[in-house]
Amino acid sequence: MAGNLLLTSPLEACSFIRPKELAAMQAAGMAAVRDLLFMLPRRYEDRRMFDRYDSLSSGAPVCLRGRVVDVGWKGWGGKGGKGRGRYVEAVLEDEQSLGNARFSCLWFSMPGIARMLCAGQEMIVYGRMKPYGKKLSMVHPDFELIREGEDNSIHLNRIVPVYSGRMGIPVRRLREIVWEALEQLSPEPEPEIYEFVPGVPCKTALRDLHFPGSAEARDKTRRRFALEECLAQQLNVAYRRRRAEAVPGMQTAGSSLLVRDLAASLPFELTEAQKRCVREIYRDMKAPRSMNRLLQGDVGSGKTLVALCAMLLAVEHGYSAVMMAPTQILAEQHYLKFRQMLDKLDVPVSLVTAERKEESHISFGGQGGIVVGTHALLYGKNVPERLGLVVIDEQHKFGVNQREKLIAREERPDVLVMTATPIPRTLTLTFYGDLDVSILDGMPGGRGKVVTAIRTAKDREKVVKFVRDQLEEGRQIYVVSPLIDGEESRKGKAVTKELDEWKALLPHVDVGLLHGRMPAEEKEAVMKDFRDNRTSVLVSTTVVEVGVDVPNATVMIINNAENFGLSQLHQLRGRIGRGAYKSYCILMTEAQPGDEQWEKLHIVETTSNGFDLAEQDLKLRGPGDVLGTSQSGLKGVRFEEWLLDVRLIHRGRELAEAILTEDPDLKSAKYRPLRFLLESGEMKRVAN
Ligand code: ADP
Ligand code: MG
Repeated sequence: MAGNLLLTSPLEACSFIRPKELAAMQAAGMAAVRDLLFMLPRRYEDRRMFDRYDSLSSGAPVCLRGRVVDVGWKGWGGKGGKGRGRYVEAVLEDEQSLGNARFSCLWFSMPGIARMLCAGQEMIVYGRMKPYGKKLSMVHPDFELIREGEDNSIHLNRIVPVYSGRMGIPVRRLREIVWEALEQLSPEPEPEIYEFVPGVPCKTALRDLHFPGSAEARDKTRRRFALEECLAQQLNVAYRRRRAEAVPGMQTAGSSLLVRDLAASLPFELTEAQKRCVREIYRDMKAPRSMNRLLQGDVGSGKTLVALCAMLLAVEHGYSAVMMAPTQILAEQHYLKFRQMLDKLDVPVSLVTAERKEESHISFGGQGGIVVGTHALLYGKNVPERLGLVVIDEQHKFGVNQREKLIAREERPDVLVMTATPIPRTLTLTFYGDLDVSILDGMPGGRGKVVTAIRTAKDREKVVKFVRDQLEEGRQIYVVSPLIDGEESRKGKAVTKELDEWKALLPHVDVGLLHGRMPAEEKEAVMKDFRDNRTSVLVSTTVVEVGVDVPNATVMIINNAENFGLSQLHQLRGRIGRGAYKSYCILMTEAQPGDEQWEKLHIVETTSNGFDLAEQDLKLRGPGDVLGTSQSGLKGVRFEEWLLDVRLIHRGRELAEAILTEDPDLKSAKYRPLRFLLESGEMKRVAN
């Protein structure tokens, strides 16, 4: 029974929504019917065929239907008491399984549950079966009561949607509202609802999105919406790419005498991979269009040197070059290193950070020069004239908009962004689709091996002895603890406490402390002491995570390692193994073999390649968690599953290219609704 409700109708037009529900939905930001219908089901339950309790195997979530045979308070404490450690247990009988198997559902600290359930009540539960005491139970399952004497047809004998943002509306009721809206939706196309992708029209697809007739229909429709989202993202990327290509770039390279001189002065040779990357960059910089290149290489692969070569090319031809780093420590380190390397080449280098700036206005007097800095480069007059090249180190620490801010000027400079993951290969196209990619594979030779090992509290003494041995041989040690003083301490030891312990353990050794809340000068001084080997042990938070380069450091101890992500552990591990010495990464943990946490650490223990780790991380946690919602470009992604689907991304890209070829600025009436997608670098929710 199709009605005349439109996707653009206000929710007020839905007579079936009660005033209280309407208020709740509006408070959650919903205004029109489309806001309701584009609310994605978090998952689905197939209620045509429930799982059978007697056929349960592993720990995967299951959906069961059963009748309550007993419900009450359990656990220790006096009978009937409701103190801590007591819980509500409902025993359910699974009528579908052989022999009427019984199982329990448990709720802790939720006294209200006891009042909702009674014997004889039929319910549907969803969750994982876990051993509790002697038997398998479901702890805090999602559940729904089956209302006897009411119409359950929307909720039973079909695949039903389950939503996460419920706005205080019971899921059963929310499902009914969505159902009713779909029932009353007019099938007519609406001019304001843009059909992004060929195939099934939006309104038909929406029905399958909420109430799919089969698992295939569900997957097909989700893929359709994912493609729409992907198209939107690729449209943005393709547009930026085209725009960058359209700007006549500067020719910032030609001869390369400075690079030759630099190479001659180094105690080592550039690796083949480094030479190849420099050649690729050189070609872009020489071309009349501007460069937009990503330099991707694992931690320690030597990206900085490649960037320095690129900057020298610009300088030789009268341009200045800027390198932006994500932290003060890193900017300072690059600055010192460049000064030292360029000493004889007579190339000026300046440092710009919020706290420290060499001059108030940077000028190389018409000649080229290099500026290294932090975010401070984005403000004021911190960028030199005749800017020919912008390098962004550890690009994933910046937003696309920050990158654009530095680049957006009358004459567009060449751009080189660098990253050591944590973007897995499969995602490069999604996130860096507007960039050409150079891959710095392979490590410089002469590097010591890095061994990784998991250790627990009982190994502490051995670890300390090992540290003493390494110190005796003249090496340096990092100790990383996750927390600064005063922060929630259940998650791990504070870094200051760790400092005191090491000072006590090693009374004749100089131990330094580094954390993010220290004033910048203090941080710099601490890093300098460590770099110059005046302190032998550096106790730190994860501020040492990116880029810090001290080749003499050979041991990295990471406390509460289970609290870190795989890629972050890899980044931390990348601080060692930078010199000729064999190095050791020790993951301290309270996890036990067999735990999920332990397995995670075991992956780090056995995988040394950052890209492989990133892929594994992705499988383990899914793209949303790996990249974090703050990761620029991922905001607003709703169909995470497409992020991994290279074919879908290619298809989205094809569609985007076709649209832009037809109408490069989306000015025609047909494409104008898509224009908003071009406005910024951030991922936008699809128009509908
Ligand atoms: P990342 O790619 O992680 O930023 P860096 O650029 O900091 O790595 O380089 C790591 C270390 O390797 C530095 O100490 C650097 O001087 C050294 N290095 C770079 N290129 C070479 C090379 N071709 N041979 C030997 N050592 C190199
Ligand atoms: Mg680096």
